Amino acid sequence: MQESVIPWPSAASLAVQGTTARFPVRRVYCVGRNYAEHSREMGGTGRELPFFFSKPADAILNVAQDAQGVLPYPPATQDLHHEIELVVALAAGGRNLTEAQAAQAVWGYAIGLDMTRRDLQAQAKQAGRPWDTAKGFDHSAPIGPLHPVSDTGVLTAGTIQLSVNGQTRQTGDLSDMIWSVPEAVAYLSTLFELHPGDLLFTGTPAGVGAVVAGDQLVGEIQGLGALRVRID
Ligand code: MN
Repeated sequence: MQESVIPWPSAASLAVQGTTARFPVRRVYCVGRNYAEHSREMGGTGRELPFFFSKPADAILNVAQDAQGVLPYPPATQDLHHEIELVVALAAGGRNLTEAQAAQAVWGYAIGLDMTRRDLQAQAKQAGRPWDTAKGFDHSAPIGPLHPVSDTGVLTAGTIQLSVNGQTRQTGDLSDMIWSVPEAVAYLSTLFELHPGDLLFTGTPAGVGAVVAGDQLVGEIQGLGALRVRID
């Protein structure tokens, strides 16, 4: 490695189910309001074009399959919200991908939580300011191990749900997405050149809500097992 004037930051990566090899992460993109019922609960019509924001790659809290991740309750909020989401990981990139190319670019899937400081997001919306402090704080992206599409097949349907302390908060089906994974990735590729290692959070179903220290979150997506996180 090249000589450096400060230590090189560590590179973000995800565990891969069934192997000790890692999946290096380049960027973390997120799509907003991709389930109609959640779009409506956030004040939308349920029919907007997709829009995107991002989180820093080092905001990932990678949680092993049989482990419970610990998410420190972040500062500067009294309204930390959960958003359970399907995360797709890309093994190929490019610009202006067709939907077929976008589908081919998907290497695997994971369960993710797009943790959100909802009070800071509401302030940002009102002031017309960016969402970075609401969405991109430290540990704001808990993600379970990556499951290769070669194991899972292409996921177009299946239950996605989140419970807090054993009580179901969010339930939906992947088939309820307004923009399918290939559509969202293809659209994203008109805005950014995508590269291997890019992740996309694909939006959350309705039922987002607050968590507090001590809460135990279990996110599940059919075919991908469970993601367990405790708020500390
Ligand atoms: Mn989200």
